[in-house]
Amino acid sequence: MKKTDALRANRARMKREFDAQSKIGRFGKTGLARIAFTPEYNRVRELVRGWMDAAGLKTRVDAVGNLFGRKEGKGKGLPAVMAGSHLDSQNPGGRFDGPAGVLTALEAVRRIGETGAAHDHPLEVVAFIGEESACGITTFGSAVLSGEVGVKQMRAAVHPPTEKSVYDALRAAGGHPTRAKSCILPKKSLKAFLELHIEQGVILESARVPIGVVDTVVGAHRGTVVFNGVTAHSGGQTMPHRRDAAMAAAEFMVAMESTARRAPDRHRMTLTFGVMSAQPGWVSIVPGGAEISFDLRSKSAAASGAMLARMKKTLERIRKKRGVRGKVNLSMKHSPCPASPGIRRALARAAEETGYSRLTLASGGIHDACRIATLCPIGMVFVPSVKGLSHTPAEFTKFSDLVAGAEVLAAAILRLADKKVKA
Ligand SMILES: [Zn+2]
Repeated sequence: MKKTDALRANRARMKREFDAQSKIGRFGKTGLARIAFTPEYNRVRELVRGWMDAAGLKTRVDAVGNLFGRKEGKGKGLPAVMAGSHLDSQNPGGRFDGPAGVLTALEAVRRIGETGAAHDHPLEVVAFIGEESACGITTFGSAVLSGEVGVKQMRAAVHPPTEKSVYDALRAAGGHPTRAKSCILPKKSLKAFLELHIEQGVILESARVPIGVVDTVVGAHRGTVVFNGVTAHSGGQTMPHRRDAAMAAAEFMVAMESTARRAPDRHRMTLTFGVMSAQPGWVSIVPGGAEISFDLRSKSAAASGAMLARMKKTLERIRKKRGVRGKVNLSMKHSPCPASPGIRRALARAAEETGYSRLTLASGGIHDACRIATLCPIGMVFVPSVKGLSHTPAEFTKFSDLVAGAEVLAAAILRLADKKVKA
Protein backbone atom coordinates (compact mmCIF):
# COMPACT_ATOMS: atom_id res chain seq x y z
CA MET A 1 0.00 0.00 0.00
CA LYS A 2 1.28 3.45 -0.87
CA LYS A 3 1.77 5.92 1.98
CA THR A 4 -0.99 8.13 0.56
CA ASP A 5 -3.53 5.28 0.41
CA ALA A 6 -3.67 5.45 4.19
CA LEU A 7 -4.64 9.12 3.89
CA ARG A 8 -7.94 8.41 2.11
CA ALA A 9 -10.72 10.57 3.52
CA ASN A 10 -13.39 9.28 5.87
CA ARG A 11 -16.29 9.94 3.49
CA ALA A 12 -19.13 9.35 5.94
CA ARG A 13 -17.65 11.77 8.46
CA MET A 14 -16.98 14.41 5.79
CA LYS A 15 -20.54 14.15 4.52
CA ARG A 16 -21.98 14.42 8.02
CA GLU A 17 -19.92 17.52 8.79
CA PHE A 18 -20.61 19.15 5.45
CA ASP A 19 -24.36 18.68 5.85
CA ALA A 20 -24.27 19.95 9.45
CA GLN A 21 -22.52 23.20 8.52
CA SER A 22 -24.95 23.69 5.58
CA LYS A 23 -27.86 23.95 8.02
CA ILE A 24 -26.51 26.96 9.92
CA GLY A 25 -27.60 30.27 8.43
CA ARG A 26 -29.50 28.46 5.73
CA PHE A 27 -31.15 30.42 2.92
CA GLY A 28 -33.94 28.58 1.12
CA LYS A 29 -33.32 24.91 0.41
CA THR A 30 -29.70 25.02 -0.72
CA GLY A 31 -28.25 28.45 0.05
CA LEU A 32 -26.54 30.17 2.93
CA ALA A 33 -26.85 33.69 4.29
CA ARG A 34 -24.15 33.44 6.92
CA ILE A 35 -22.43 36.76 7.27
CA ALA A 36 -19.47 37.32 9.61
CA PHE A 37 -20.19 39.04 12.96
CA THR A 38 -23.67 37.51 13.29
CA PRO A 39 -24.97 34.83 15.71
CA GLU A 40 -25.15 32.31 12.81
CA TYR A 41 -21.50 32.86 12.03
CA ASN A 42 -20.51 32.35 15.67
CA ARG A 43 -22.54 29.14 15.74
CA VAL A 44 -20.82 27.58 12.74
CA ARG A 45 -17.41 28.57 14.07
CA GLU A 46 -18.17 26.87 17.40
CA LEU A 47 -19.37 23.77 15.54
CA VAL A 48 -16.13 23.53 13.55
CA ARG A 49 -14.08 24.28 16.66
CA GLY A 50 -15.76 21.30 18.34
CA TRP A 51 -14.68 19.04 15.46
CA MET A 52 -11.13 20.38 15.70
CA ASP A 53 -11.08 19.75 19.48
CA ALA A 54 -12.40 16.22 18.98
CA ALA A 55 -9.61 15.61 16.45
CA GLY A 56 -7.05 16.49 19.10
CA LEU A 57 -6.05 19.81 17.52
CA LYS A 58 -5.13 22.66 19.83
CA THR A 59 -7.71 25.35 19.03
CA ARG A 60 -7.80 29.11 19.45
CA VAL A 61 -9.97 31.99 18.22
CA ASP A 62 -8.07 35.26 17.81
CA ALA A 63 -9.30 38.74 18.78
CA VAL A 64 -11.14 39.31 15.47
CA GLY A 65 -12.65 35.82 15.23
CA ASN A 66 -10.28 33.75 13.07
CA LEU A 67 -10.30 30.10 14.18
CA PHE A 68 -7.14 27.93 14.25
CA GLY A 69 -6.57 24.24 15.05
CA ARG A 70 -2.97 23.13 15.42
CA LYS A 71 -1.15 19.80 15.43
CA GLU A 72 2.49 19.91 16.48
CA GLY A 73 5.23 18.25 14.40
CA LYS A 74 8.44 16.46 15.40
CA GLY A 75 10.60 19.52 14.86
CA LYS A 76 11.03 22.24 17.47
CA GLY A 77 10.34 25.87 16.61
CA LEU A 78 9.59 25.20 12.93
CA PRO A 79 7.07 27.31 10.96
CA ALA A 80 3.63 25.78 10.32
CA VAL A 81 2.12 24.41 7.13
CA MET A 82 -1.34 26.01 7.19
CA ALA A 83 -4.46 25.14 5.19
CA GLY A 84 -8.00 26.45 5.22
CA SER A 85 -10.46 29.00 3.86
CA HIS A 86 -13.53 30.84 5.18
CA LEU A 87 -16.88 29.91 6.77
CA ASP A 88 -18.93 33.01 5.88
CA SER A 89 -21.07 33.38 2.74
CA GLN A 90 -22.43 36.04 0.42
CA ASN A 91 -25.92 37.31 1.26
CA PRO A 92 -27.19 34.94 -0.01
CA GLY A 93 -24.59 32.59 -1.41
CA GLY A 94 -24.00 28.86 -1.63
CA ARG A 95 -22.85 26.31 0.93
CA PHE A 96 -19.55 25.38 -0.77
CA ASP A 97 -17.74 28.69 -1.27
CA GLY A 98 -15.44 28.76 1.77
CA PRO A 99 -16.63 25.81 3.88
CA ALA A 100 -15.29 23.39 1.23
CA GLY A 101 -11.77 24.67 1.97
CA VAL A 102 -12.10 24.60 5.75
CA LEU A 103 -13.65 21.13 5.99
CA THR A 104 -11.28 19.48 3.49
CA ALA A 105 -8.30 20.98 5.35
CA LEU A 106 -9.70 19.65 8.63
CA GLU A 107 -10.20 16.19 7.15
CA ALA A 108 -6.69 16.23 5.63
CA VAL A 109 -4.94 17.16 8.89
CA ARG A 110 -7.14 14.79 10.88
CA ARG A 111 -6.32 11.86 8.56
CA ILE A 112 -2.60 12.63 8.88
CA GLY A 113 -3.06 12.44 12.66
CA GLU A 114 -5.13 9.26 12.56
CA THR A 115 -2.63 7.41 10.38
CA GLY A 116 0.22 8.45 12.66
CA ALA A 117 2.21 9.78 9.68
CA ALA A 118 5.34 11.57 10.91
CA HIS A 119 5.91 15.21 9.97
CA ASP A 120 8.54 17.78 10.94
CA HIS A 121 6.56 21.00 10.67
CA PRO A 122 3.43 21.78 12.71
CA LEU A 123 0.13 21.62 10.77
CA GLU A 124 -2.54 24.23 11.19
CA VAL A 125 -6.16 24.38 9.98
CA VAL A 126 -7.64 27.88 9.69
CA ALA A 127 -11.14 29.28 9.23
CA PHE A 128 -10.76 32.95 8.28
CA ILE A 129 -13.61 35.23 9.35
CA GLY A 130 -15.36 37.51 6.87
CA GLU A 131 -13.91 36.72 3.44
CA GLU A 132 -16.98 37.88 1.53
CA SER A 133 -17.76 41.52 0.76
CA ALA A 134 -21.19 40.94 2.38
CA CYS A 135 -19.57 41.54 5.81
CA GLY A 136 -18.25 44.98 4.85
CA ILE A 137 -14.53 44.25 4.24
CA THR A 138 -13.45 41.66 1.64
CA THR A 139 -10.92 39.09 2.99
CA PHE A 140 -11.30 40.70 6.41
CA GLY A 141 -9.84 37.97 8.63
CA SER A 142 -6.84 37.14 6.46
CA ALA A 143 -6.13 40.85 5.93
CA VAL A 144 -6.01 41.33 9.71
CA LEU A 145 -3.55 38.42 9.96
CA SER A 146 -1.31 40.01 7.31
CA GLY A 147 -1.57 43.44 8.95
CA GLU A 148 -3.31 45.05 5.95
CA VAL A 149 -6.55 45.78 7.84
CA GLY A 150 -6.73 47.32 11.30
CA VAL A 151 -8.91 49.49 13.54
CA LYS A 152 -9.01 52.39 11.06
CA GLN A 153 -10.56 50.33 8.24
CA MET A 154 -12.95 48.63 10.68
CA ARG A 155 -14.29 51.97 11.86
CA ALA A 156 -14.69 53.24 8.28
CA ALA A 157 -16.51 50.20 6.85
CA VAL A 158 -20.19 49.37 7.29
CA HIS A 159 -21.41 45.86 8.19
CA PRO A 160 -24.51 45.70 5.94
CA PRO A 161 -26.65 43.26 8.02
CA THR A 162 -26.55 45.47 11.14
CA GLU A 163 -25.71 48.83 9.51
CA LYS A 164 -23.14 49.31 12.27
CA SER A 165 -19.46 49.85 11.57
CA VAL A 166 -17.46 46.64 11.14
CA TYR A 167 -15.72 47.69 14.37
CA ASP A 168 -18.99 47.79 16.34
CA ALA A 169 -20.40 44.68 14.66
CA LEU A 170 -17.28 42.71 15.56
CA ARG A 171 -17.49 43.93 19.16
CA ALA A 172 -21.18 43.04 19.38
CA ALA A 173 -20.32 39.55 18.11
CA GLY A 174 -17.85 39.06 20.97
CA GLY A 175 -14.64 40.14 19.21
CA HIS A 176 -12.00 42.63 20.34
CA PRO A 177 -11.27 45.05 17.47
CA THR A 178 -8.83 47.12 19.52
CA ARG A 179 -6.61 44.05 19.75
CA ALA A 180 -6.45 43.50 15.97
CA LYS A 181 -2.68 44.06 15.96
CA SER A 182 -2.24 41.08 18.28
CA CYS A 183 -3.63 38.88 15.46
CA ILE A 184 -0.86 39.68 12.96
CA LEU A 185 1.05 36.49 12.17
CA PRO A 186 4.84 36.82 12.22
CA LYS A 187 6.36 35.91 8.85
CA LYS A 188 8.57 33.26 10.43
CA SER A 189 5.52 31.43 11.85
CA LEU A 190 4.41 30.04 8.45
CA LYS A 191 6.21 27.79 5.96
CA ALA A 192 3.36 27.46 3.46
CA PHE A 193 -0.34 28.18 3.06
CA LEU A 194 -2.73 26.04 0.98
CA GLU A 195 -6.33 26.91 0.20
CA LEU A 196 -8.83 24.59 -1.45
CA HIS A 197 -11.69 26.46 -3.09
CA ILE A 198 -14.49 25.75 -5.53
CA GLU A 199 -13.50 26.95 -9.00
CA GLN A 200 -16.48 29.31 -9.55
CA GLY A 201 -16.02 28.74 -13.30
CA VAL A 202 -16.48 25.91 -15.81
CA ILE A 203 -12.92 24.96 -16.79
CA LEU A 204 -12.64 21.83 -14.60
CA GLU A 205 -16.20 20.68 -15.27
CA SER A 206 -15.80 21.06 -19.04
CA ALA A 207 -12.54 19.10 -18.95
CA ARG A 208 -14.02 16.48 -16.57
CA VAL A 209 -11.04 16.90 -14.27
CA PRO A 210 -11.52 16.94 -10.47
CA ILE A 211 -8.37 18.84 -9.44
CA GLY A 212 -7.16 22.25 -10.56
CA VAL A 213 -3.75 23.50 -9.47
CA VAL A 214 -3.79 27.29 -9.50
CA ASP A 215 -0.78 29.01 -11.05
CA THR A 216 -1.80 32.64 -10.41
CA VAL A 217 -4.62 34.52 -8.75
CA VAL A 218 -5.47 37.31 -11.16
CA GLY A 219 -4.88 40.94 -10.24
CA ALA A 220 -7.78 43.39 -10.12
CA HIS A 221 -8.40 47.08 -10.74
CA ARG A 222 -11.68 48.68 -9.76
CA GLY A 223 -13.04 52.14 -10.08
CA THR A 224 -15.60 54.35 -11.81
CA VAL A 225 -15.86 56.30 -15.05
CA VAL A 226 -17.81 59.53 -14.76
CA PHE A 227 -19.32 61.35 -17.78
CA ASN A 228 -20.66 64.91 -17.86
CA GLY A 229 -22.77 66.21 -20.73
CA VAL A 230 -25.69 68.60 -20.84
CA THR A 231 -29.11 67.87 -19.33
CA ALA A 232 -31.94 68.70 -21.77
CA HIS A 233 -35.60 68.18 -22.70
CA SER A 234 -36.08 64.79 -24.38
CA GLY A 235 -38.54 66.16 -26.90
CA GLY A 236 -37.15 69.64 -27.36
CA GLN A 237 -33.47 68.87 -27.84
CA THR A 238 -33.04 67.34 -31.29
CA MET A 239 -30.58 64.49 -31.77
CA PRO A 240 -27.69 66.39 -33.41
CA HIS A 241 -27.59 68.92 -30.55
CA ARG A 242 -27.39 66.53 -27.63
CA ARG A 243 -24.48 65.98 -25.27
CA ASP A 244 -25.91 62.82 -23.77
CA ALA A 245 -23.69 61.49 -20.96
CA ALA A 246 -25.43 58.10 -20.77
CA MET A 247 -24.88 57.43 -24.49
CA ALA A 248 -21.22 58.35 -24.08
CA ALA A 249 -21.03 55.80 -21.23
CA ALA A 250 -22.76 53.19 -23.41
CA GLU A 251 -20.35 53.73 -26.30
CA PHE A 252 -17.43 53.50 -23.88
CA MET A 253 -18.65 50.20 -22.43
CA VAL A 254 -19.24 48.54 -25.78
CA ALA A 255 -15.86 49.69 -27.13
CA MET A 256 -13.99 48.45 -24.05
CA GLU A 257 -15.85 45.16 -23.96
CA SER A 258 -14.75 44.41 -27.49
CA THR A 259 -11.13 45.27 -26.60
CA ALA A 260 -11.30 42.93 -23.59
CA ARG A 261 -12.74 40.14 -25.75
CA ARG A 262 -9.78 40.41 -28.11
CA ALA A 263 -7.19 39.97 -25.33
CA PRO A 264 -5.19 36.72 -25.71
CA ASP A 265 -6.41 33.79 -23.58
CA ARG A 266 -3.15 33.68 -21.67
CA HIS A 267 -3.93 37.07 -20.09
CA ARG A 268 -7.23 35.72 -18.70
CA MET A 269 -8.67 39.18 -18.90
CA THR A 270 -12.17 40.05 -17.72
CA LEU A 271 -13.85 43.45 -17.74
CA THR A 272 -17.19 44.09 -16.04
CA PHE A 273 -19.35 47.19 -15.78
CA GLY A 274 -21.62 46.13 -12.92
CA VAL A 275 -23.16 49.43 -11.82
CA MET A 276 -24.55 52.12 -14.11
CA SER A 277 -26.50 55.24 -13.40
CA ALA A 278 -27.76 58.20 -15.40
CA GLN A 279 -28.46 61.63 -13.91
CA PRO A 280 -30.90 63.08 -13.25
CA GLY A 281 -32.46 59.73 -14.20
CA TRP A 282 -35.85 60.52 -15.67
CA VAL A 283 -37.78 59.18 -18.66
CA SER A 284 -38.18 62.54 -20.38
CA ILE A 285 -34.76 64.06 -19.69
CA VAL A 286 -31.59 63.67 -21.76
CA PRO A 287 -29.03 62.59 -19.12
CA GLY A 288 -26.47 65.26 -18.34
CA GLY A 289 -24.51 62.88 -16.12
CA ALA A 290 -23.61 59.21 -16.07
CA GLU A 291 -21.44 57.00 -13.92
CA ILE A 292 -20.33 53.39 -14.44
CA SER A 293 -18.24 51.09 -12.28
CA PHE A 294 -15.53 48.91 -13.74
CA ASP A 295 -13.82 45.74 -12.55
CA LEU A 296 -10.79 44.75 -14.62
CA ARG A 297 -8.91 41.54 -13.91
CA SER A 298 -5.97 39.80 -15.51
CA LYS A 299 -3.11 37.43 -14.79
CA SER A 300 -0.80 39.89 -16.51
CA ALA A 301 0.01 43.15 -14.74
CA ALA A 302 1.33 44.52 -18.05
CA ALA A 303 -1.92 43.67 -19.86
CA SER A 304 -3.95 45.38 -17.11
CA GLY A 305 -1.78 48.46 -17.38
CA ALA A 306 -2.23 48.54 -21.16
CA MET A 307 -5.99 48.14 -20.71
CA LEU A 308 -6.18 51.08 -18.31
CA ALA A 309 -4.25 53.21 -20.81
CA ARG A 310 -6.66 52.07 -23.52
CA MET A 311 -9.61 53.09 -21.35
CA LYS A 312 -8.22 56.61 -21.09
CA LYS A 313 -7.63 56.81 -24.86
CA THR A 314 -11.12 55.54 -25.64
CA LEU A 315 -12.59 58.05 -23.21
CA GLU A 316 -10.64 60.83 -24.94
CA ARG A 317 -12.01 59.80 -28.34
CA ILE A 318 -15.62 59.68 -27.07
CA ARG A 319 -15.26 63.01 -25.29
CA LYS A 320 -14.22 64.69 -28.52
CA LYS A 321 -16.83 62.95 -30.63
CA ARG A 322 -19.76 63.64 -28.29
CA GLY A 323 -18.75 66.92 -26.69
CA VAL A 324 -18.90 65.56 -23.15
CA ARG A 325 -16.38 65.50 -20.32
CA GLY A 326 -15.25 62.31 -18.58
CA LYS A 327 -12.81 60.90 -16.06
CA VAL A 328 -11.52 57.48 -14.96
CA ASN A 329 -11.19 57.09 -11.17
CA LEU A 330 -9.26 54.12 -9.79
CA SER A 331 -10.40 53.00 -6.30
CA MET A 332 -8.73 49.62 -5.81
CA LYS A 333 -5.68 47.80 -7.12
CA HIS A 334 -4.57 44.24 -6.37
CA SER A 335 -1.49 42.87 -8.11
CA PRO A 336 -1.66 39.34 -9.57
CA CYS A 337 -0.65 36.80 -6.90
CA PRO A 338 1.41 33.82 -8.13
CA ALA A 339 1.36 30.43 -6.41
CA SER A 340 4.81 29.25 -5.32
CA PRO A 341 6.50 26.69 -7.60
CA GLY A 342 7.25 24.46 -4.58
CA ILE A 343 3.62 24.26 -3.51
CA ARG A 344 2.41 23.76 -7.10
CA ARG A 345 4.86 20.88 -7.38
CA ALA A 346 3.66 19.39 -4.07
CA LEU A 347 0.03 19.58 -5.25
CA ALA A 348 0.84 18.04 -8.64
CA ARG A 349 2.73 15.18 -6.96
CA ALA A 350 -0.13 14.74 -4.48
CA ALA A 351 -2.65 14.44 -7.34
CA GLU A 352 -0.45 11.81 -9.03
CA GLU A 353 -0.03 9.81 -5.81
CA THR A 354 -3.73 9.84 -5.03
CA GLY A 355 -4.69 9.00 -8.62
CA TYR A 356 -6.71 12.10 -9.56
CA SER A 357 -6.34 13.87 -12.89
CA ARG A 358 -5.44 17.54 -12.71
CA LEU A 359 -4.89 20.61 -14.81
CA THR A 360 -3.32 24.01 -14.24
CA LEU A 361 -5.51 27.10 -14.24
CA ALA A 362 -5.70 30.66 -12.94
CA SER A 363 -8.02 31.90 -10.23
CA GLY A 364 -10.29 34.68 -11.48
CA GLY A 365 -11.52 35.37 -7.95
CA ILE A 366 -9.52 36.94 -5.13
CA HIS A 367 -9.15 34.71 -2.09
CA ASP A 368 -7.76 34.75 1.44
CA ALA A 369 -4.61 33.11 0.04
CA CYS A 370 -3.72 36.46 -1.63
CA ARG A 371 -3.54 38.16 1.76
CA ILE A 372 -1.51 35.34 3.29
CA ALA A 373 0.85 35.57 0.28
CA THR A 374 2.45 38.59 1.98
CA LEU A 375 3.50 36.24 4.83
CA CYS A 376 4.61 33.00 3.15
CA PRO A 377 4.52 31.00 -0.12
CA ILE A 378 0.93 30.07 -1.06
CA GLY A 379 -0.83 27.57 -3.28
CA MET A 380 -4.45 26.87 -4.21
CA VAL A 381 -6.39 23.76 -5.26
CA PHE A 382 -9.66 24.12 -7.15
CA VAL A 383 -12.48 21.57 -7.33
CA PRO A 384 -15.22 21.77 -10.00
CA SER A 385 -18.27 24.02 -9.72
CA VAL A 386 -21.30 22.59 -11.52
CA LYS A 387 -22.15 24.97 -14.42
CA GLY A 388 -19.58 27.35 -12.95
CA LEU A 389 -22.17 28.77 -10.57
CA SER A 390 -21.14 30.47 -7.33
CA HIS A 391 -22.30 33.31 -5.06
CA THR A 392 -25.81 31.91 -5.51
CA PRO A 393 -27.81 29.27 -3.62
CA ALA A 394 -27.62 27.21 -6.85
CA GLU A 395 -23.88 26.71 -6.29
CA PHE A 396 -22.97 23.01 -6.31
CA THR A 397 -19.90 20.79 -6.14
CA LYS A 398 -20.14 16.99 -6.25
CA PHE A 399 -19.28 15.32 -2.95
CA SER A 400 -16.80 12.99 -4.69
CA ASP A 401 -14.87 16.06 -5.86
CA LEU A 402 -14.66 17.37 -2.30
CA VAL A 403 -13.28 13.96 -1.27
CA ALA A 404 -10.70 14.15 -4.08
CA GLY A 405 -9.74 17.61 -2.89
CA ALA A 406 -9.33 16.49 0.73
CA GLU A 407 -7.10 13.58 -0.31
CA VAL A 408 -4.89 15.70 -2.56
CA LEU A 409 -4.65 18.31 0.19
CA ALA A 410 -3.64 15.65 2.75
CA ALA A 411 -0.85 14.30 0.54
CA ALA A 412 0.40 17.81 -0.31
CA ILE A 413 0.34 18.99 3.31
CA LEU A 414 2.26 15.91 4.42
CA ARG A 415 4.87 16.46 1.71
CA LEU A 416 5.33 20.13 2.60
CA ALA A 417 5.55 19.29 6.31
CA ASP A 418 8.81 17.47 5.59
CA LYS A 419 11.67 19.87 6.42
CA LYS A 420 13.64 18.67 3.37
CA VAL A 421 10.86 19.85 1.00
CA LYS A 422 10.94 23.44 -0.19
CA ALA A 423 7.71 25.44 -0.33
ZN1 LIG B 1 -14.65 31.98 -1.12
